Amino acid sequence: MRAQDFSTVSQTTFPSAAHIMEKFMKTQEYIQLEERHGAHNYHPLDIVIQRAEGVWVHDVEGNKYLDFLSAYSAVSQGHCHPRIYQAMVEQAKKCTLTSRAFRNDQLALFYKELTELCGMEMALPMNSGAEAVETAVKTARKWGYEVKGVPDNKAEIIVCNGNFHGRTTTVISFSSDPEYKKHFGPLTPGFVFVPYGDVAALEKAITPNTVAFLVEPIQAEGGVLIPPAGYLAKAGEICRKNNVLVMFDEIQTGLGRTGKMFAYQHDTGAKPDMLILGKALSGGFYPVSAVVANSETLGVFQPGHHGSTFGGNPLACAVAREALRVIIEEKLVERSAEMGHYFRERLQTIKSKHVKEVRGRGLLIGVELKPEAGGARRFCEALKEEKLLCKETHEHVIRFAPPLVITREELDWAFDRVKKVLETMT
Ligand SMILES: *Cc1c(COP(=O)(O)O)cnc(C)c1O
Repeated sequence: MRAQDFSTVSQTTFPSAAHIMEKFMKTQEYIQLEERHGAHNYHPLDIVIQRAEGVWVHDVEGNKYLDFLSAYSAVSQGHCHPRIYQAMVEQAKKCTLTSRAFRNDQLALFYKELTELCGMEMALPMNSGAEAVETAVKTARKWGYEVKGVPDNKAEIIVCNGNFHGRTTTVISFSSDPEYKKHFGPLTPGFVFVPYGDVAALEKAITPNTVAFLVEPIQAEGGVLIPPAGYLAKAGEICRKNNVLVMFDEIQTGLGRTGKMFAYQHDTGAKPDMLILGKALSGGFYPVSAVVANSETLGVFQPGHHGSTFGGNPLACAVAREALRVIIEEKLVERSAEMGHYFRERLQTIKSKHVKEVRGRGLLIGVELKPEAGGARRFCEALKEEKLLCKETHEHVIRFAPPLVITREELDWAFDRVKKVLETMT
């Protein structure tokens, strides 16, 4: 069946026709439908995934691929992890949503387990990562006015050039990427930029009105950029001296991705006042995010100050609780460190005229290509032909971030393909 048949059919007999046609649809039909009816806000690789398990995904043509992106680290536990699936189904039978108008029997335990894991006192649950960042911004500002004593509407938050914190209007207001902001204004004021990794610039940027410093321990979207050793600890020291909150966005780097539970733990002495989590917090089953902090900051919220209909719902909490248990009980943090080290060592042996640098921590790895390599996208396309799914980030970097459950044999399988593509492509 051809794609052009769809528009006429779907107008007259929707929705039943779609179900019938689904059985006959192949990659190109899905792509055409998507292009016609969906906003073009992504540039995906042209593979249509139908099912997935562990590190493997299967497309509608019956091809099998190794997932080397893990939905930007949201499926660190592997696709459709059986334990998280079980927890989700069990909870879905019982109760999915109460809203926070009433209490539910999952939220309290989620709070307890999450705050213990983070070594903090309180948490505030949201759904997407960007919402959690918004929550952190609101918390810092409210803390600034009510605890620190900053004059109303004067609060400043320091952020880093090259950051990625999400896509809401306020969050893009403090992106340094013009593409993220163009024609989305007027933007939210109150943000100050400093170069990433530069302690002196941070110190200079602090004013009496600075309430927080928001930073990613590794800039993952920015190209897997690792700051100089000691940066987070020194930045924290300066912030504390000036009564400025330290907020680590660990949405992508947290929960084992970099070979530590949290990426800031690579930096001895670094300590957050606020941790922002998302992505792998649910193992990819459901959007779950949270801000985790102490009572001095999260304690500023009173009823009515902030909320979300779905935030903290029992289904989300049950899923997140199991997702965290899987990370701990399957020793995925240790696994990430070990496998990441192994894979990076192997990558260093590749002799390719295109590669400028291989870097990373744990299973968050960036292969930076030379500018003359013509961009990372064509290499990702070539790897896709080899049945390895990767995504470029920031034009010249290929990011490798497989599910943390990946085995040494699977990494070897991937390595052969990466080596072939990097060494043979002209
Ligand atoms: C993905 C990501 C976000 C945004 O999360 P969404 O769930 O896409 O809103 C924020 N910060 C970092 C570091 C991320 O990687």
